[in-house]
Amino acid sequence: STPILTIDGPSGSGKGTISRIVAQQLGWHYLDSGALYRAVAVAAGWADVDLADPSALVRCTFDTDIRFVDEPGHELKILVNGADATLELRTETAGAAASAIAAIPEVRSALVERQRRFAREPGLVTDGRDMGTVIFPNARYKVFLTASAKERAERRYKQLIDKGVSVTIDGLLREILARDARDSQRTVAPLRPAPDAAHVDTTGLSIQEVVEQVLSVVRS
Ligand code: C5P
Repeated sequence: STPILTIDGPSGSGKGTISRIVAQQLGWHYLDSGALYRAVAVAAGWADVDLADPSALVRCTFDTDIRFVDEPGHELKILVNGADATLELRTETAGAAASAIAAIPEVRSALVERQRRFAREPGLVTDGRDMGTVIFPNARYKVFLTASAKERAERRYKQLIDKGVSVTIDGLLREILARDARDSQRTVAPLRPAPDAAHVDTTGLSIQEVVEQVLSVVRS
């Protein structure tokens, strides 16, 4: 079967950056599953869909066209209903809205097949919260990435400041902790490591060091 590497973990653990580099080094496909939840949340906002109405959200999930433009040397670009939504998706506002709709079981179910379709030869690297537990429980390789909350807030800060978004580290830290609490405490697909995942604590490690550790899981 197609080799799959799942990389789960809390927000700001470095999943996105690491997963994409690892996918490029392996020559495998890459799925940013969080971007799907972010895209649906943002599209729902554009269409004035009530975030408390599950059936309207499910319709919005099926109706939202989400495309990834993944070119080496460029940031992963995300088109939502044809519009470049990369910057809007990366804001903490979109993250919080994604986390809210991601707690709704019907929304999660509506995204299952869309995620599984990314598993194609020669392989898939995918990051999120439930890739190793729910979407690809039989994945050959699984990693759970963590980092201290402070370092995760600092990483998000740097990413957003580089994009010209105005934020503070303290504000981000509060938002990240709130989002983690909601993601870990929800009843459907809560954030937790798969029993067979290799744990990598990225606190104080460089991107290259984390990439090496993750690649060693695939090569061992
Ligand atoms: O990973 P990212 O920060 O982009 O994810 C945004 C939100 O989407 C998370 O806080 C989480 O609530 C939700 N999510 C999820 N399952 C995934 C990926 C993301 O519930 N596989």
